[in-house]
This record gives sequence, structure tokens and C-alpha cells, in this order.
Amino acid sequence: MPDFFINGQPVHAEKGQTVLQAALAAGFYIPYFCWHPHLSVAGNCRVCVVEVEGEGGGSSWTDIACNMPISEGMRVLTDSETVREQRKQILQFILLNHPVDCGICDKAGECLLQDHHYAYNGEPSVSTVPKVRATKFYPLSDRIVLDNERCIVCSRCVRFTREVSRSHGLGIQNRGDHSLVRAAEDGSFNADPYSDNVVDICPVGALLAKNFLHKARVWYLQATPSVCPGCARGCTVNLWHRKREWRLNHLDPKQNTAIARVTPLENPVVNGPWICNKGRDLAQIFERPRAEQAMRKGRPATLDEAVAAARRLIDEARRPVALVSSWGSNEELAAFKAHLAPRFACFVKADHQPLPGEVLEDELLIRADKNPNTIAARQLFGEAPIAFPDGTDLVLVWGEGADFGSLPRGARVILLGSYLAPENGHADVFVPISIQTERSGHYTNFAGVVSRFERLFPPKPTVAHAEALFARLAVAAEVA
Ligand code: SF4
Ligand code: SF4
Repeated sequence: MPDFFINGQPVHAEKGQTVLQAALAAGFYIPYFCWHPHLSVAGNCRVCVVEVEGEGGGSSWTDIACNMPISEGMRVLTDSETVREQRKQILQFILLNHPVDCGICDKAGECLLQDHHYAYNGEPSVSTVPKVRATKFYPLSDRIVLDNERCIVCSRCVRFTREVSRSHGLGIQNRGDHSLVRAAEDGSFNADPYSDNVVDICPVGALLAKNFLHKARVWYLQATPSVCPGCARGCTVNLWHRKREWRLNHLDPKQNTAIARVTPLENPVVNGPWICNKGRDLAQIFERPRAEQAMRKGRPATLDEAVAAARRLIDEARRPVALVSSWGSNEELAAFKAHLAPRFACFVKADHQPLPGEVLEDELLIRADKNPNTIAARQLFGEAPIAFPDGTDLVLVWGEGADFGSLPRGARVILLGSYLAPENGHADVFVPISIQTERSGHYTNFAGVVSRFERLFPPKPTVAHAEALFARLAVAAEVA
């Protein structure tokens, strides 16, 4: 562990750390564009320049901190007059051809270039030469568009596809101010299941997600921590939605309860700083048409009537079977175990199966089990395959994915569901239940790591929370 000095203060560095890494770890900020903690060093933006004081009366020198090894006793200045002047010139250079169209750019509000310009430059361009024009809204894939005028050619996106997703889907054509990021012609970027991470790591607004394009200014949104239920990895994510103080009353109130975008919530023990594209599309899962009306044999009923009817069926059943959801939270599973498991033969079902064309499994994040909480469910209810003993006269189905054609003929059915489905109206009792975004809880991922998700939106009053519902159903079950 070498000791060195930053701005006159002693700093410990781990073996192998660069000046930039040691400085950030010690709380000294050095600006950067092309450097990223999870990518190789490219050293092309030069904005992390620092000054090293000369030893023994020698002259000082400047170089980039991201690629500077540390030697014992070296003295680094991150904010000297020389550094400030060089950084200013570097920002003038980086902004030479950038259009500075922040007013219409989705990155505005979370753009490194905006931040660094104000912090280290703050002056209009000194150039009198017209800016180089380049392609705007260039489709890099079905999911991502590129504004080449905003690209500062940091190569983060290219390195991501080489070093992380390994699709090798992006490259840079040409040289100098004719440089263009382009997708490989073999379609590998379009097929890259992690492609949207380049939108996050692009330090400027050059790479834009089509599903968020011009949808909202980021300062109207807030992020709520959650867990992606798309597979057993259980990546931690931020679900972005409209802030309460910016709610729309007349224009489009649906936006108040919509997921505007999904981004990774960095988690070293689960997903690092990445998620796959399925995680980006969680709105497609959560915002399917909802079932919010309780029913008895397809006829509308109040929630209380449906619960009472379900309780009667549980009371009367002699051989009830329960198909337990692998999308239930740890809290809901525990409630089911405590209140209803003694009354039912319980089997865990897979609520979701891989969709056509979906990547089944890979070495980075994606798991073959497309359910978030199978491990926790199996720990409580066993691993036995679903079976219906002779005489099964009641089946309680919790969640999606049940094969209704395989249920025993004549058995009564209680269905607890969240989305519109033909089976809802065929069940003897249908009780609508809340979804993940309407409650808080935890999932246990395939490796046993427990992650918490928070509530974003309130459920409709006609919708029950499964955890409380199980206790209500148990009142009758325990009496029986
Ligand atoms: S598109 Fe963004 S991430 Fe890619 S090289 Fe340009 S600025 Fe860097
Ligand atoms: S790897 Fe699995 S948990 Fe992570 S974002 Fe993709 S689908 Fe969601």
C-alpha cells in the first residue's frame, strides 16, 4: 500500500490503484468522461488531468489520472492553476462540435458534460469555425438511437460491448471529427440482451433509449428502489416515475402511475451496475391490463363477498390443494405458510416461463428461471412437482402460470390474480390482488441474497394485498 499525497494531504492507496481510483476512494473528486469503474482505461477524454509536483526541485508535469500509477511519496495536485487551465481547454475542445442542445436532450439534468462544463469551463466556445454536422436520431438498434453530434467519442459504449456484454456489437468508424459510433453489420448489437446499459454509461446524451425518448424530463421523476422479477437473478433496479409535486391533473393522469423508465441500482453482490433489457421493459410486465374486480363465477362481487365465499369453499373442502406463486414476496409466502399451509397440500408453481426469443440463460446475469422468488417458495413449500391427490375438491391458484386444463374435474377453484385473463371469470371465486409496484417486500434470489422492493403506487381499493388476504382466509380455515 503506497502512501502518496493529494493536494498536500496523505492518502493510502491499494496496490494497483491508479491516481484516479485512489483519489475517488479518498474523497477527492477528479472529473472524467471516458473512464468508468467497470471498463478498461481508454484515456482519450483527458479531462482527468492532474499535476504531479517535481521531486528535488525538478519541474512538475501533468498527465491523466485514470492511467497514472502511484509511486510512494508522489505529490499530486488535482486543482492547481495549471490543471484548471488545461481542463478548461480540454472542455473547449470536447465542446467544439457538440451542439449543446440540452433543451431537447433526454440526458439534461444527469449529463456529465453539463456538470463538468459548468464546474471547469463555464464560458462560450472560443471557436469561430462552424460545428461539424453529423447524423441525428441514427438508429443503432431497435431499442437505441444515436445522436452523433452529441457523441464525444469516449468509447465507453464500444468497450461495454467488448468487455461486459461481449457482443462486440459497436465500433467507431473514421477518424477525428468524422468519427461515428456504428453497430456491427452482423446485427450483434441488436441481439445484445444488455444493450441498453450503453444509454446509462454514455456520459452525454448521444445514446438514447427509444422507450424513454422525449418521454419526461428527469427532474420530473423520482426513483424508487425495487427488484426486477424477470428472472431468479433479482437485479436491484430503480423504477422511475413522476414526482408527486409534478403530477399531471388534466393532461395525461395515467402518467402519474406509470413507470417512465428502469435503470440499474448498483449492487455488487447481485448485478453490479448492470441489468438486462428485459429489466428495462418491466413496464410491459407491470402495466398489462389489470383485474380489479372481484368475482364469483364470473359475476361481479365486492371484495368482502369474494373473500367470504372463498372462506366457505376452504371450510367445506376435504382435500384442498394450493398452487403457490413464485412471484410472491418473502412476506406473502411466510403469511401463506403461517395461515393456510396447514389446510392445503401446497406446491410451488412457475408463474412465468421464458418468452419466445428470450435469452434463456447466460454467464453474466440472466437466469433460466423467469421468476423472482422460487428459492424462497421452495424453502417453505418443498420442491415436489405439482400433483393432485385423488379426491382433490378445491384448488387455490395464487398468481399466474397455472395449467387450468390439468386441474381435477369438478374441483372448485379460488383464483388470486392481478391481470385480466379468461380464467378469472371461470373460477368459483376470483380475488384481485396487488402487484409488486403496489406494495413493499423482499425477494430471495437464486443465490440466497435477499433484496427489498418498495411501493410506488397505491392499489385500487377493490384490490387485496395477498399477505393480509391470507390472514382473512385463515380465520375460517383454522376454525374448520
Ligand atoms: S455514444 Fe456516448 S458512450 Fe459512445 S462513444 Fe459517444 S459519447 Fe461515448
Ligand atoms: S437479469 Fe433477470 S433480474 Fe436482472 S434485469 Fe434481467 S430479467 Fe431482470
